[in-house]
Amino acid sequence: MARRKKLYEGKAKILYEGPEPGTLVQYFKDDATAYNAEKKGVIDGKGVLNNRLSEYFMKGLGQIGVPTHLIKRLNMREQLIRSVEIIPLEVVVRNTAAGSLSKRLGIAEGTALPRPIIEFCYKDDALGDPLVSEEHIIAFGWAAQQDLDDMVALALRVNDFMSGIMMAVGIRLIDFKIEIGRVWEGDFQRLIVADEISPDSCRLWDIETGRKLDKDVFRRDLGDLADAYTEVARRLGVLPSNVTHTVKPHLIN
Ligand code: UDP
Repeated sequence: MARRKKLYEGKAKILYEGPEPGTLVQYFKDDATAYNAEKKGVIDGKGVLNNRLSEYFMKGLGQIGVPTHLIKRLNMREQLIRSVEIIPLEVVVRNTAAGSLSKRLGIAEGTALPRPIIEFCYKDDALGDPLVSEEHIIAFGWAAQQDLDDMVALALRVNDFMSGIMMAVGIRLIDFKIEIGRVWEGDFQRLIVADEISPDSCRLWDIETGRKLDKDVFRRDLGDLADAYTEVARRLGVLPSNVTHTVKPHLIN
C-alpha cells in the first residue's frame, strides 16, 4: 500500500495529504505540551477525545452557519478537513481572567471580565507566540483590516456558541484559542475556523466546584488530564456514559 504523504507535524497533530485536492487528513496525537513545549507528556487517549470533541464543536458551529474546516471525522484519531491558508495568528477570546492575562495585568484568576476580550498572538514558537496589536498585524501584512473585522466576528460567534453549550452542561468557558484560515472560492476569499477546538485550547471550569477540566490540569499538575477531558465529553454526550478512562497516563520527560 502506498504510504501517504505527511505534510506537517505539530505538537499535538499531524497533517497528511487528503484524498482529493483541497483536502487534508488531520491526525490527533496523544502528545501534550505546555509552556511553549518546555513541558512534555503523552496522555493515553487524549488524541481520541480531542478528535471527537473538536468534531462535535465544529459540526455544531457548521449547523449554526459558522464555517469551519471540518468535512467529516474519519476514524478514532483522524478527520478529513479542508485545506486552508492559516492566518499566522492565535485568536484568544476571554470571558474570565486567567492564565497570561492574569499574570500580565495582575488581575486575579476567576475575575469576570466586563465584556469578552479578544487578543491576537503572532504564531511563532521561537518568539513564544507574542501578543500583538492590530497595528502590528496590518503593518506586517499578516491580515488586512477586513480580515480582522471578520476574525473578530467569527471569534465572538464561536464564543457565544461554546459558552452556551458549556453552560448547558455545568461548565464555565473561561477562555479559548482558535485559528482561522483563508479559503478561496473563485475570486473571493472566505475566512473559516480551522485547527481544532478542544480542552487543549480552552479553559473550562466546573460551575459548581471550579474544578479545571482543561489543559491546565497538565500544565499545573492537577491530576489526570484524560479523566478531565473524558468528563467534558461525557457531559456533552459525546461518549457513552459507561466509557471510562482505564489506562493511567504517564509523563515522559
Ligand atoms: N492557548 C492555546 N495555545 C497557545 C496559547 C494559548 O490553545 O499556544 C489557549 C489556552 O489554552 C487558553 C487561552 O488560549 O485557553 C488563553 O491562554 P493564555 O494566553 O492565558 O496562555 P497560557 O496561560 O495558556 O500560557
